[in-house]
Amino acid sequence: MQQQRYAVIGAGPSGLSAARALQKAGIAFDGYEASRGVGGLWDIENPRSTMYESAHLISSRTTTQFTEFPMDSTADYPGHRTLMRYFRDYADRFALTEHFRFDTRVTGLEQTDDGGWMLRAEGPASAIEARYDGVILANGTLAEPNVPTFRGEFTGELLHTSAYKSAGQLTGKRVLIIGAGNSGCDIAVDAVHHAASVDMSVRRGYYFVPRYLFGRPSDTLNQGRPLPARIKQFVDKRVLRAFTGDPVRFGFPEPDYRLYESHPIVNTLILNHLGQGDLAVRPDVERFDGRTVHFRDGTSGEYDMVLLATGYTLDYPFVSRDALNWRGFSPRLFLNVFPPSFNGLYVMGMIEASGIGWQGRYEQAELIAEYLSALQNRPAQAQEFRRRVASQPWPDLTGGYHYLGLERMSYYVNKDAYRRAVREARESLRAHPRGAADRAGARRAASRPSKRTPA
Ligand SMILES: Cc1cc2nc3c(=O)[nH]c(=O)nc-3n(C[C@H](O)[C@H](O)[C@H](O)COP(=O)(O)OP(=O)(O)OC[C@H]3O[C@@H](n4cnc5c(N)ncnc54)[C@H](O)[C@@H]3O)c2cc1C
Repeated sequence: MQQQRYAVIGAGPSGLSAARALQKAGIAFDGYEASRGVGGLWDIENPRSTMYESAHLISSRTTTQFTEFPMDSTADYPGHRTLMRYFRDYADRFALTEHFRFDTRVTGLEQTDDGGWMLRAEGPASAIEARYDGVILANGTLAEPNVPTFRGEFTGELLHTSAYKSAGQLTGKRVLIIGAGNSGCDIAVDAVHHAASVDMSVRRGYYFVPRYLFGRPSDTLNQGRPLPARIKQFVDKRVLRAFTGDPVRFGFPEPDYRLYESHPIVNTLILNHLGQGDLAVRPDVERFDGRTVHFRDGTSGEYDMVLLATGYTLDYPFVSRDALNWRGFSPRLFLNVFPPSFNGLYVMGMIEASGIGWQGRYEQAELIAEYLSALQNRPAQAQEFRRRVASQPWPDLTGGYHYLGLERMSYYVNKDAYRRAVREARESLRAHPRGAADRAGARRAASRPSKRTPA
């Protein structure tokens, strides 16, 4: 049988994971990367990167790194330049770099009559057209800014955080940051040291997790044996209260949701600065009027710059929405990877989760590689996998948490539930005679209530 060939779009952590897993499985592939090299958004020079000079890991090193390639750093939360070196070293160590065409942007994917995909790309010198048996999309989820509309017009500088690179951009300005996600809080801390004044406008309350608890990186505690959602929420809420106090004291609204039902903010410097009076929390914006911003509580403020820390929107601009089974804010995919039609597209990295790390992304890649191996060498097993996906409830990936119905939460998963489901799916595809593991995986999937059923 002729060997199948696949394309990988993107050489960030997800694309590198895909490359490594395909390489290990002996599957032929070509990689396409729009930027100059590997590393994805961790390369601050990548024109699409949303990195900024002060950025460090938010999850800690040991929970984030690839298991087979520990980081050559003793820092618990290394900075983006260290991480950039890490990805270059990883790609070199496993000879992945040579599989990618750099400075080459994929511009189109169309299904061919024989079930493959025609890929079109713009290279540094010429256009490329090539047919593949399937395509792995690893073009990132944090590149396309989500820019809300506001009433009125702001006549100062209006920037999305994707355009924020360094604190010099804030020097001497009266800054309003809208949104208090992880990037918004990092930038607020930068702003405190450079801006003339800093306010932060928020719509809802947040939970703030310190980087260290009991002297250890906080995400390294309670690993391996996850507590049931309600117990973890009960215990962790009290631990956070003991360590960080009540954010309401600092001006934040009381969260109208439970802990872990939205992405927590791993930043307590922001609370220190609030306590020092270096910045203030303001309510949601009502409207702009020149340089004046009116808030919902009837107050207003004057600003030179408004920074929208309003997150990102998923974007796969080179392929039709139907092919990815879009529903609402995001594609609806089995395990956030496989379109239910199994049309030869595979999505990597479309997971938002607290602490899933690059190893979690690598496990997605292993699952894809296992499926592609089965397609080539054990078609009946691949067919059985597809049959189960079509006929049984999809695993519950929430871990029992009721996530907020926000755009950025539409593809959010609980890392433990997700990794378990990926492991089971991979196990069911493995090259051993179909039997015990297969049936056990199917039984477990069928016995769990589904939050995500086939469309
Ligand atoms: C400030 C910040 C801190 C973060 N901290 C953490 C953390 O602590 N832990 C964690 O796990 N995650 C963190 N993240 C999330 C981050 O998204 C992931 O770590 C990781 O970068 C995702 O990898 P990816 O390969 O899916 O996407 P990306 O890193 O975005 O890479 C996508 C790649 O695809 C390329 N590409 C895009 N379109 C095309 C195209 N059409 N053709 C060819 N190439 C294309 C891009 O150039 C890019 O190189 C952080 C993100 C930010 C912004």
